[in-house]
Amino acid sequence: MAGRSSSGPSDGRIAVGVIRKAHGVRGEASVEPWTDFVERFSELKKVSLVSPDESEVRPATIRSWRAHSGRVLLQFDGIDSSEDVARLRNWTIEIPESEARALEPDEYFLHDLVGLRLVDHEGRDRGLVISADSGGSGVLLGVERSDGHRFAVPFAATICTAVDMANRRMTVNLPQGLEEIESIPAAEDDPDAESEEAVEPEVRAEPELRVDVVTIFPRMFDSLLAEGIIARAIKSNVLQMRVWDLRDFATDRHRSTDDEAYGGGPGMVMLAEPVFRCVDAIRGERPDAESPRVIMTSPQGRVFDHETAHRLSRGRWLIILCGRYEGFDERIRQRLVDEELSIGDFVVSGGELPAMIMIDAMGRLIEGVVGNNESVEGDSFFNGLLDYPHYTRPAEVRGLKVPDVLLSGHAEKIRKWRKRQALRQTLEKRPDLLDRADLDEEARQMLDEVENETDD
Ligand code: SAH
Repeated sequence: MAGRSSSGPSDGRIAVGVIRKAHGVRGEASVEPWTDFVERFSELKKVSLVSPDESEVRPATIRSWRAHSGRVLLQFDGIDSSEDVARLRNWTIEIPESEARALEPDEYFLHDLVGLRLVDHEGRDRGLVISADSGGSGVLLGVERSDGHRFAVPFAATICTAVDMANRRMTVNLPQGLEEIESIPAAEDDPDAESEEAVEPEVRAEPELRVDVVTIFPRMFDSLLAEGIIARAIKSNVLQMRVWDLRDFATDRHRSTDDEAYGGGPGMVMLAEPVFRCVDAIRGERPDAESPRVIMTSPQGRVFDHETAHRLSRGRWLIILCGRYEGFDERIRQRLVDEELSIGDFVVSGGELPAMIMIDAMGRLIEGVVGNNESVEGDSFFNGLLDYPHYTRPAEVRGLKVPDVLLSGHAEKIRKWRKRQALRQTLEKRPDLLDRADLDEEARQMLDEVENETDD
């Protein structure tokens, strides 16, 4: 069995990429390659440009090409302005099928293997192909199980016994133990770390919280899944996370997820239908679970804070929608969204980082995720105050000393010192928090004293 890079054929032609936008003013086209062997473009000269609805086909000659951060920049003869290119948005670049080497019967495009569902001979779901890479020893598939565990499967006839492209399924015979080999490097255990990272909770049968994320950049979440507390929580299934590629739910063969704004103006708008379809698919996967809360990341939402993180982490199931460009078609919010949440009064370029921030903040509030719960309870905001200052070895660094009380070993004095410091930090840095904080008698008295100190 072999995999090849490229995309699906159409009418005797084969698409090698799609024009996404103009790059610069000289009329270079920024092309999303549908082959992961981009050098392929250097062999191409005469191509056909095909309109999204396939009603128009224009011959074109590639004058030059260069690779540029995951895209290919093409200059066509006779297309010399960004306006010309803008008119070709979402047109595909196609070559005659005869020019592409014909596929052997058991040969597949790498591109087509991604998204296949693995099913074993008993018909059980064994995961979803999330990547396909060809290396020296053949094609290796990256597979993600529904619990988020990832493993690698060689695309070999003895293991992948049948491919059903029409139904997007692959029958597999997984050798014992293969699944256990994690394909993402697990966080290294630092033997010296006594705190958060060093705990290895047992694997849960049912997660405390399930989060489904909808994005056009699923790989941005790799880092969250690879290292740190949240990765560990996912591995142990306390937190379950699944990242959905919105492009898989596009309604056209260009996998479009955005379009121009009605009424004109700059910037693209995320299409409603793919999001509806994706959320339907997510809900459909767990028909018996209580219905998910749909969160839209947006700078217009209520600002996500400790209270929100706490409340949402007590729920069972969330779907988080990550926008790009100008954001979502308004009808998504109308029909689908339970809650619009912002990470602060500024705009970032996509909902992925906000979603990761929210997942991290919620995740660490789930019991058992951070090994030492006291560490979370002492964190800023947990009790309405900021955290007290922390010190570690050595007792003196560059002439700066650790407060004596912390070296005294006197537990009660240390407790009081920390409480007073937490109040002092809050008063100095975030006095607004004190209005809402639920202070006990001791704290109120300490606060009085601290206020008088600062008055002096
Ligand atoms: N035109 C929009 C901003 C779009 S930014 C507006 O002014 O309201 C593109 C996407 O990034 C948004 O759809 C959202 O998903 C995400 N995003 C940007 N800033 C954000 C913030 N402060 N909090 C949460 N999500 C944000």
